[in-house]
Amino acid sequence: MHLIIEQNAQQVARWAADHIIRAIQAKATKTDAPFVLGLPTGSTPLETYAELVRRHKAGEISFANVITFNMDEYVGLPEEHPESYHSFMWNNFFSHVDIKRENVHILNGNAADLEAECAAYEAAIVAAGGIDLFMGGIGEDGHIAFNEPFSSLTSRTRCKVLTEDTIRVNARFFGGDVTQVPKRALTVGVGTICDAREVMILALGPKKARAVQMGVEGAYSHVWTITALQVHPKGLLVCDEDACGELKVSTYRYFKDIEKERL
Ligand code: PGA
Repeated sequence: MHLIIEQNAQQVARWAADHIIRAIQAKATKTDAPFVLGLPTGSTPLETYAELVRRHKAGEISFANVITFNMDEYVGLPEEHPESYHSFMWNNFFSHVDIKRENVHILNGNAADLEAECAAYEAAIVAAGGIDLFMGGIGEDGHIAFNEPFSSLTSRTRCKVLTEDTIRVNARFFGGDVTQVPKRALTVGVGTICDAREVMILALGPKKARAVQMGVEGAYSHVWTITALQVHPKGLLVCDEDACGELKVSTYRYFKDIEKERL
């Protein structure tokens, strides 16, 4: 795993956007096949999306040959609800770039058969050639997508019951009212994320410091599903200084030093 430590949230966003743009461009030099990008919702990636939109508008990057798969969606929330992940993605990213509507994939949390919906999603990822780069955030409890603690580290796309902690944290998007937060979500599995050829997880702020510490220094374990990144051949954790506040000084220095070597 590589840990990239940037000074603040804005620099994390710039680093992540640069990385995505470089990856799309690198694939385009080798093949006409579309770039397959896994995407998250939440507060963390907002600035990265804004940066990608800016770079698109500046003519630096096109998403016309990009296929996307989102990580998750609430069950039972209408697509047009302002807090659905469908709304989030169109409002914050897709509507502002040249992505083709048919290339966007987001789980349907209102499907009549949720199990079939999840199986079809896995099949669609395979049909697209697999995910080239999966970007994600991290929960305070170390979850990636909605893979809450004790999710199997080989799990696939499925329906999950959200923990009380996650419901409480996400209530901020529902007027602070925990009763308005859906109790279930469809989510890609840890195994689905780790099948991507590269995984880039972003973490911002002191609230994520414990999850970052467990993800980097903790033992591989289903208790902190972020630790799955430790066994990925191309796992990247991109953090601001505040999110690194619980790391040992020696760990922090190690990653700062090797990053200097890489530049
Ligand atoms: P956040 O959520 O980006 O809103 O902090 C991340 C997550 O729960 O995965």
